[in-house]
Amino acid sequence: MRLAEIIERRPVPAAGLLATLTRRCPLSCAHCSTSSGPRGEDTPAAALRRFVGGFTPADRPDVLMLTGGEPLLLPALVADLAERATAAGTRTAVLSGMFFASGGRVPDRVLRALRHVAHFSASLDVFHEREIPRADVFRAVHILEDSGIDVSFHLTGNSVDDPYLAEITAAVRAEFADRVAMLVNHVRPVGRAAAWAGAGTVSNVGGLNGGTRDGTSADGVPAADGTPAADAAPSPCAMAAWPVVAFDGTVVACCNQRVVDTRPVPEHLRLGHVAEDGWPDVRRRCQDSPVLRALRTSGTTSCADCRGLAGDDLAAAVRTGSRPAAGAVDALGARLQREAGAAVLLRRYGSAPYAPLVLLGGGGRDGDGAVRAPRETTA
Ligand code: SF4
Ligand code: SF4
Repeated sequence: MRLAEIIERRPVPAAGLLATLTRRCPLSCAHCSTSSGPRGEDTPAAALRRFVGGFTPADRPDVLMLTGGEPLLLPALVADLAERATAAGTRTAVLSGMFFASGGRVPDRVLRALRHVAHFSASLDVFHEREIPRADVFRAVHILEDSGIDVSFHLTGNSVDDPYLAEITAAVRAEFADRVAMLVNHVRPVGRAAAWAGAGTVSNVGGLNGGTRDGTSADGVPAADGTPAADAAPSPCAMAAWPVVAFDGTVVACCNQRVVDTRPVPEHLRLGHVAEDGWPDVRRRCQDSPVLRALRTSGTTSCADCRGLAGDDLAAAVRTGSRPAAGAVDALGARLQREAGAAVLLRRYGSAPYAPLVLLGGGGRDGDGAVRAPRETTA
């Protein structure tokens, strides 16, 4: 499964499920949005197995994305969840910080687990490179690619004009001869980066780590102090579409890191718990919640405003999302965004100049909904 096929489904309600497996990670990157490190909680594995085991061919997400922390600290769980998902027709993707790649190796236990997945994405940025050398990561990704796994890179820089992004994207293109797609983002002031990062842009759209508009105005332009501009207009949120299993097993409505980490979850952003609910319940709440429909179609001015929705504003969102045509408008919006393709979505939610790199290697749609072959990009 190509990266673009995953990303283009991101605005479609319940087309994917994001599951964090553990907050543990052998690395301690300075920008980690989940504040992961050697110690941290594991998501309840038995409940997660049961939840994913409840997927059926008739009622399942298209994509199961496994992340962390470092999901490959639990290779047997990765393999088991991917097997259960595959049995229902769901394809599994894994995002890793590549802790295992020292010396350019892929340990057998990791390779065995990844044989069950449809896509593998390697994180790479200046922080990861301090922990695992780039050459080792490239060698390990070559091994995965050669074993038939569809691979991509998840790259992070400080801003659009960060020279690192220009250099690393060129290096990946050269090393992998444009076969490997890239998702490019900027550091956001959440998790460990909250202490030092300025108001960033937006989350990684794979929804792998975090929120969409923390520290930005509604149109994605950062305000100097990280707050939305006073006259910011509401804008629809495409991230309120894939349920996210948090580290404690709670299922939340989006990948905003504060929603994932803060308890209690605002009621309008809580979809259930893997120990208590099944996929059909979570899927139904995701698709049918009037507030989520309103967020997807009308939006709010910022993630902070969204999390704080209450009183008259919450009632207005319920009214908006309960209108007779709200379901049809929501479905049409999702369809149009999917047809617009992954690169269009990433111009808004990723690092815009690098958005076309998501189409490298093929498999994506671009603007008119056509499936494209590999092509030149403008980044
Ligand atoms: S950014 Fe990824 S690799 Fe780095 S500490 Fe966080 S989870 Fe681990
Ligand atoms: S907090 Fe609200 S606006 Fe922000 S990503 Fe989540 S659903 Fe969207």
